Amino acid sequence: MRSVSIFGATGSIGESAFDLLMHDGGPDRWRVVALSGGANIARLAQMARALRAEIAVTAYPERLNDLREALAGSGIDAAAGPAALVEAADRPADWTLSAIIGAAGLAPGLRVLERGGTLALANKESLVTAGRLVMATAQRSGARILPVDSEHSAIFQALGGDNLDSVEAVTITASGGAFRDWPLERLADATVAEASTHPNWAMGQRITIDSASMFNKALELIEAQEFFGIDPARIKVLVHPESIVHALVSHKDGGTLAHLGPPDMRHAIGYALHWPDRADLPVARLDLAAIGSLSFRAPDEERWPALRLARQVMQTGGASGAVLNAAKEQALDDFLAGRIRFTDMASAVEATLDALTARPGFATSPMDLASVLDWDQQARQFAAAWAVREARR
Ligand code: NAD
Ligand code: MG
Repeated sequence: MRSVSIFGATGSIGESAFDLLMHDGGPDRWRVVALSGGANIARLAQMARALRAEIAVTAYPERLNDLREALAGSGIDAAAGPAALVEAADRPADWTLSAIIGAAGLAPGLRVLERGGTLALANKESLVTAGRLVMATAQRSGARILPVDSEHSAIFQALGGDNLDSVEAVTITASGGAFRDWPLERLADATVAEASTHPNWAMGQRITIDSASMFNKALELIEAQEFFGIDPARIKVLVHPESIVHALVSHKDGGTLAHLGPPDMRHAIGYALHWPDRADLPVARLDLAAIGSLSFRAPDEERWPALRLARQVMQTGGASGAVLNAAKEQALDDFLAGRIRFTDMASAVEATLDALTARPGFATSPMDLASVLDWDQQARQFAAAWAVREARR
């Protein structure tokens, strides 16, 4: 029996992984070690019971008693807080899904890599904030990272074990999000509710808003650079409203391989779960005749300044990825709280990158967790202060 752990089990990705495991025999076929969640204690306990997990961990220390009560009589251990997450990641499991949202996902994922485990990585923020550290840690221990982000899974699959020597470019697609066709002058007044809808994918609220602002694609550009070790000029973005083609790999001989599928994350999660085999997965099959036509267009950097900021980070390296991500997370909190406008998010990130560039050590990639978190804190502080100043104007 293979053993698995899921960090961020109660989120959108985590629920999809749970669904796959339950479709595939549940606890009779899988030994579930750890499941983690946040404030939704009832759901976390329900999942842990259904999969007969060894331990369930909530991110919030003040919820430990609630979790204990919800698990009473089950024999499942309960734990809480960031340190408990890392301890749970230390428990041996053959396969671990990193599906916490945000920079908070870095520490447990790193611990899995330190112990040489296989990490299925949905948490793109790990590679954006600490790509060098993450890849070096995996290399040192012999750990394997399997991409779960749909575009990166698509590239990984289209490469089919080839190295990058013959590859001229990789292209990740973007649906364009909620505001793809909005007039530019309306964007500043976009509401949280409007930004929280997605034309094709059902995802958590934060990544859905990041899709509308294109910060999700910005993170994915950096993620591709770090994971595949490919230079920025060879990574492209293509707007593709139907979200059927997830990525393209173009070779020097003029041939391009595309990965296609309906927009359902259970494909990419299931691919990583069963890799290197391919399993029969409970996802809809592609019917191109029913879809009829697919469309593509070049991305518009005026509409989506996030893409320009990602290019800047890809050139700069050092701590810039950690700074961009943390400033973006803070700006998203400020947008959600009504403190800044939709279009202010990119301005906040740009101002933070500009201001922190001059700080000592910015040009050096942080190579331990404490340094990553230090840059993360500096960026959040700057971006939060920026939002306060902006709100007063
Ligand atoms: P989500 O918001 O739906 O779920 C996030 C999970 O993380 C929940 O279990 C939540 O309880 C937990 N969590 C939140 N804050 C935490 C904290 N501070 N500490 C510990 N746990 C915390 O998010 P999601 O949409 O499932 O996305 C998860 C990750 O997968 C993100 O990195 C996202 O970029 C990536 N991803 C998501 C999708 C998608 O379809 N949703 C696609 C590709 C990549
Ligand atoms: Mg993606």
